Amino acid sequence: MARDIIDDRLIGALHVRALSRAGLQHDPVDEHVAVQAGTLAALLEGGYDGDATLAEILRLGDLGLGTVQHLDGELVVLDGAAWVVRSDGRVDELDGTVRTPFAVVCRFRGEASLRCNGPWTLAELRDRIDEASRTELNVLDDEIVAVRATGRFADLRLRSVARQRRPYPPLREVVAHQTEWHVDSAVGTVIGFRFPDTLAGVEVPGYHVHFLSDDRTTGGHVIDLTMLNGDVQLQSCDDLHVELPVGVALGSPGAVDRDEVRRVEGGGASTPTA
Ligand SMILES: [Zn+2]
Repeated sequence: MARDIIDDRLIGALHVRALSRAGLQHDPVDEHVAVQAGTLAALLEGGYDGDATLAEILRLGDLGLGTVQHLDGELVVLDGAAWVVRSDGRVDELDGTVRTPFAVVCRFRGEASLRCNGPWTLAELRDRIDEASRTELNVLDDEIVAVRATGRFADLRLRSVARQRRPYPPLREVVAHQTEWHVDSAVGTVIGFRFPDTLAGVEVPGYHVHFLSDDRTTGGHVIDLTMLNGDVQLQSCDDLHVELPVGVALGSPGAVDRDEVRRVEGGGASTPTA
């Protein structure tokens, strides 16, 4: 049992625990635990084969994002179901047998909410989440905030990535050929997280958000959008449990090139990816 815990440390205010896949299967979680498969560092290097299944991930969380095996699109987990937005924009529901090299979820309860009477740019949305995180959630900048924003959106710039074949190229080469599209208006949900800068390498530092329309006809990794109106719900997580596929290490967070992460994942203070 103890061997299932590979690494256990404090990173800033966050407790980060690395587990084997077997450890994940009997990992007890509550609503303040975010659960992740894989690491960003491994994904950047072309590690597109994970060993955790979506069923294992969905047991531990009902809201989240990531990608799927072979980097075959952008993953959205919403209300306990998993969807993928392929590189041609098609949206498919996934079953629990699909594996993922990189995904993060939490049990979302919505501890704080704010009403949007926009239009709010993505930067304004982030600013308001930052403010509500401080004032409503009492969360410091070095904790995780999960976001679920439902409503009406305009000028969405979305993207996805194409399924890769071995030998896998690094993520920066894939993203150079990513498919990007524009949606004038959509009703749906923005799902995502704000990760602390101290987690660079493990996760995308800053905001990382995906979108899924209510009619399930569009979605993807959000490059930009305007929120017209709706409801933004937030929840803090002060624990991150990371499932490490064989051969992947937790590494030292912060050891990753942040400029590359921003180019590839669009994390940080500007626009997020994967
Ligand atoms: Zn993404």
